[in-house]
Amino acid sequence: MRWMLPLLVFLSTLSGFEFDLKPQRLTPDVTCFFGEPEAMNKSNNGNMSNSCYIDTKKSYVVIDSGSSYLYADAAYKAMQKIKPLPVELVINTHVHDDHWLGNGYFTQTGVMVLGSDDFIHNASIDSPSRIQTHISPEAYAMTVPTRPTQFISENKTLTIGDQEIQLRLMPKKAHSDKDLVVFLPKLKVLFAGDLVFNDRVLSLRDGDINGWIEALDDLKTLNATTIVGGHGFRTDEKAMDMTYDYLIDMRVQVRAAIAAGTGIDESVHKIAMPTYQTLKMYDTLHRGNVDAAYRMLEWEQ
Ligand SMILES: [Zn+2]
Repeated sequence: MRWMLPLLVFLSTLSGFEFDLKPQRLTPDVTCFFGEPEAMNKSNNGNMSNSCYIDTKKSYVVIDSGSSYLYADAAYKAMQKIKPLPVELVINTHVHDDHWLGNGYFTQTGVMVLGSDDFIHNASIDSPSRIQTHISPEAYAMTVPTRPTQFISENKTLTIGDQEIQLRLMPKKAHSDKDLVVFLPKLKVLFAGDLVFNDRVLSLRDGDINGWIEALDDLKTLNATTIVGGHGFRTDEKAMDMTYDYLIDMRVQVRAAIAAGTGIDESVHKIAMPTYQTLKMYDTLHRGNVDAAYRMLEWEQ
């Protein structure tokens, strides 16, 4: 079915909307597309999360397919200009729709898409897509929400071309119910999905603060030199620090509030974290994060 791709690429250019994606080469074998560190809206049209291509010499492996069919199409075309290789595998880091609505672009030509078994039963998969309601219909054109074609429930190491690709499932709820990260041991590159945010405040809405901190503690032991988060531009060895420090600081303050008998509403109102106040989305997400952290931590002894 690979022959179909040129035809489909041609057809997709007829829809009238084109993402202007700029590939950034992080290592000779890893190229990423970085979305705006902001919420999905009609100006970024869903180009607000990160997606990467690993060159295995015989094919590409894609980490997160992006937020729509046309996004996946634009990224694929940009990569073909750099080096024409087929996509052999797409890996989805977690169930939030800004990371996998591009799956259908690849499955239409028979490309395997791999995700955790959370995709089988997570109710959010079948609820109306946040992306669809927040971006323009032109940008969402041709998008068909498509689950992974294979699910994994335990860690796995794949060898594709000259790359060893480690798939690591987080043992506990962290950013989402089940987060999958990808590690390339040879290159020391970690694709951390939404366990790592930069340049904007993270969202704890679907997560667990303790599980998230534990997951990052574990990922630190990999000593990755390149770390790509699900959102934000920073990719050096310190790229997980902002997320980690924010969560630790939040946990200290929320535990102290609970111990002092401060109620949830007052805590949400009072717990400000000035270090992060200048970050994008602080105003829209920080209070909700305090609320979510409080509800989790109040059950601790
Ligand atoms: Zn997410």
